[in-house]
Amino acid sequence: MRTALLAVLLAATALADVTVRGKTFQVTCHFNSKRIAREALEVAETTWPAAIDYYGLTPRKPRERHTVHLFRRREEFDAACLTLDGKRWPHAAGLTTSDGVVLVHVGENLTSAVFGRHVLTRRDRHLIAHETTHVAGRHAPGFAAHPEWLREGSAEWIADRVLGGDDARQALADARASTVQDLVRRNALPDAKALLASQVGSLDTHERYALFGAFVDFAKNERPESLRRALRAKGPKLSNAQVNGLFLASQDEDVLDELGDDFGAYLASQQPSWHLGPGHFEPREDGGWLQLALAEERAIVWRAREVSHAYTLTGGLQIPGRGEPAVRVLFGHSLHWDDAGVHWREAYHSVAFDTSGVRLVRHVAHSRDEGGKMREVEIGRGVTELEPGKDHPFEVMVAHDSLAVTLDGESVLQWRFEPGSATAGHWGVATDAGGVGRWSELREHD
Ligand SMILES: [Zn+2]
Repeated sequence: MRTALLAVLLAATALADVTVRGKTFQVTCHFNSKRIAREALEVAETTWPAAIDYYGLTPRKPRERHTVHLFRRREEFDAACLTLDGKRWPHAAGLTTSDGVVLVHVGENLTSAVFGRHVLTRRDRHLIAHETTHVAGRHAPGFAAHPEWLREGSAEWIADRVLGGDDARQALADARASTVQDLVRRNALPDAKALLASQVGSLDTHERYALFGAFVDFAKNERPESLRRALRAKGPKLSNAQVNGLFLASQDEDVLDELGDDFGAYLASQQPSWHLGPGHFEPREDGGWLQLALAEERAIVWRAREVSHAYTLTGGLQIPGRGEPAVRVLFGHSLHWDDAGVHWREAYHSVAFDTSGVRLVRHVAHSRDEGGKMREVEIGRGVTELEPGKDHPFEVMVAHDSLAVTLDGESVLQWRFEPGSATAGHWGVATDAGGVGRWSELREHD
């Protein structure tokens, strides 16, 4: 049995394994963290009834608990995929094997310091809920014939539902809307026919799942009966096309056109409040945000709403320790294309805070230079007393060509920009590579 092979494979690290058991699942954490195993178990157990209900299944106590394996190291996750599924999945961090065993690589691209501090990220929890939904879906009679949009879109949709409160759901909706709206902007949105046939080859995994998740959300809201028919399809030798046929209930081209138009209108109505860049931006229970940067890349989010030339950005910021990577308030983001639409120039400013002080930095990238690499120039500097682990209220005031920064109510940096400097545009927050930033009460004031 392949599970036994996994046991052999992991024998070397078995001493560090920890397993916890719930009603329906058992979770083995292959890096000795009972806390993480318990947290993952809670996600799986919470997802299960929601997924059972979604697929219209009768809740039953399983004969055996379903198994979830958590890995911290990529090599171990890859080896387990190969052993249990017979395949490599280089672009996946989560997998449900053909035997219904869930494998998840947690804390991907995070340093141990960041991962250790935070336990499971929202992405990790989302992966676990997504795979758990597949385990439940496998009990649906027509599951093997569910087209990719239905299989993956359902797992995305359920995972969004079960994670956290309203803020977390809003953040997930934002993440999805950011990704999907980017497809609309790039004219890369497939038409309804291609979407149903899962012919979305030019999109990467992340974009595909965001699109399918959005489509299931749309179907759940605007075509609930169609979705129900597809989810409850049964019969011998069902095909993907037959399940799509049940969803559409007609082969008429007009039905597809109408579906495409309605989905387009639904997407246009999904306005995110943040555009999420690299890294994690997670709602905290107290209403603030936790920003986790990946090991090699600065974490960035941009507020969707633009501000004009005179505005004040306020909030609270915190870094965990002395000498830790800086957190930044970003403003004046602009992106300009030349008339021919060939070259672009991107620019913004940041106010960087760390335990060594406060700096004003100008960031500029031009598609003609170094392949569009962002260049940074420090243009101003001030003194701060940033105490690790403490929430520091800040104010960044921009009035046309001048800047005034206060921290804990004290002035820490003043600056006069050269005439013509761009200070209007999007604002946002960032945390430098390998760092953790905590933000609270982020607001813009005109
Ligand atoms: Zn999946």
